[in-house]
Amino acid sequence: MDSSSTLLAAMKTVLAGNQFPVALHEPSFSEREQQLVKDCLDSGYVSSVGEHVDRFELQLAEYLGADYVVAVVNGTAALHISLLLAGVVVSDEVIIPALSFVATANAVRYCGATPHFVDSEPHTLGIGPAKLSDYLAEILQLDGGVWRNKNTGCRVSAIVAMHTLGHPVDMGALNIVAARYGLPVIEDAAESLGSCYKGKMTGTLASIAAISFNGNKIITTGGGGAIVIRDKQLAVRAKHLTTTAKISHAWEIAHDETGFNYRMPNLNAALGCAQLERITAFIEQKRRLADAYSDAFFSVTGISVFQEPEFSRSNYWLNALLLDEADLDKRNAVLKLLNNEAIMARPVWTLMHKLPMYRDNPRMDLSVVEDLEQRLICIPSSPFLIEATGHA
Ligand SMILES: *Cc1c(COP(=O)(O)O)cnc(C)c1O
Repeated sequence: MDSSSTLLAAMKTVLAGNQFPVALHEPSFSEREQQLVKDCLDSGYVSSVGEHVDRFELQLAEYLGADYVVAVVNGTAALHISLLLAGVVVSDEVIIPALSFVATANAVRYCGATPHFVDSEPHTLGIGPAKLSDYLAEILQLDGGVWRNKNTGCRVSAIVAMHTLGHPVDMGALNIVAARYGLPVIEDAAESLGSCYKGKMTGTLASIAAISFNGNKIITTGGGGAIVIRDKQLAVRAKHLTTTAKISHAWEIAHDETGFNYRMPNLNAALGCAQLERITAFIEQKRRLADAYSDAFFSVTGISVFQEPEFSRSNYWLNALLLDEADLDKRNAVLKLLNNEAIMARPVWTLMHKLPMYRDNPRMDLSVVEDLEQRLICIPSSPFLIEATGHA
């Protein structure tokens, strides 16, 4: 057999019994979701008032072992508010990974700040603390108590760590580097709900985190997001900012600053409550699916399945094949092969510094992500795929 037919055979052993086309990621709904959404509709409270939002926030805080959770309209809004809470202001620079979904960079721009792109490390796909440490030592300069980028003169005010495809960043090491410069760390945990780093949930590894409940994420509220916060004062501020900065009063309608209409609607929260009840089962299924892919690709040469970092327990939100060598032609050939067989496969995101609006942004050497971009192929990862295969 040539390599493409071995590869296809490996994919098909895992996906056998499923309906084709096989999507990259689909949500799964049970009667519980139907019931809670119907209850919400029957109550008439589908929008900005209702009990489900409070319930969802408490349920999520309990699941994470977090202090405070504020539910919002989507993960991008959660990132935007997280950056504001961290003190990011106009003309700052914020350190973010070049390998991320565009929302990470966009949220920085919403604050009037500039995304400053850094490299990942190959075994986590996230920010590499050692390389970042060397880089910050080289470019940062203390000026009147403020750390500035020597080359641009801009204040560097935060670091966003994104847990790529669900796999945790080496947060312990990253937090040490950040603390050296007094930089707050924000977790972009949009993809990693339920993933653990050294036994602790992602989303609780820094003082502020953002989560997404978009339709393709591990649980969904249709569209939605959450901000996870340690400090009570900041949590109160997050709630205020995301609810149009309205002053609480029996009848007056007044606002004390320019707020945002970012509150999660009650209808979405109802769906979220039901989905959150099932997350442990989803993660178990996803981990079994990842095992099945690993077994199937064990004997395929030149390609492997990306494995969680050794210090973590990943939710394996999205499985990825990893070519042994960076070869764009080979990557594209695999993408074509799989898509032709109605198996949805996708490259990782176009690196942030290659997008037209971020082309001229400050950046470090990005050789690791440039390499990874040519080697990674995301493959179908819906939790229910494993049920049909007999791998259970
Ligand atoms: C999905 C995602 C977001 C944004 O979430 P939305 O709910 O789609 O706004 C942000 N960052 C990353 C890494 C994501 O994958």
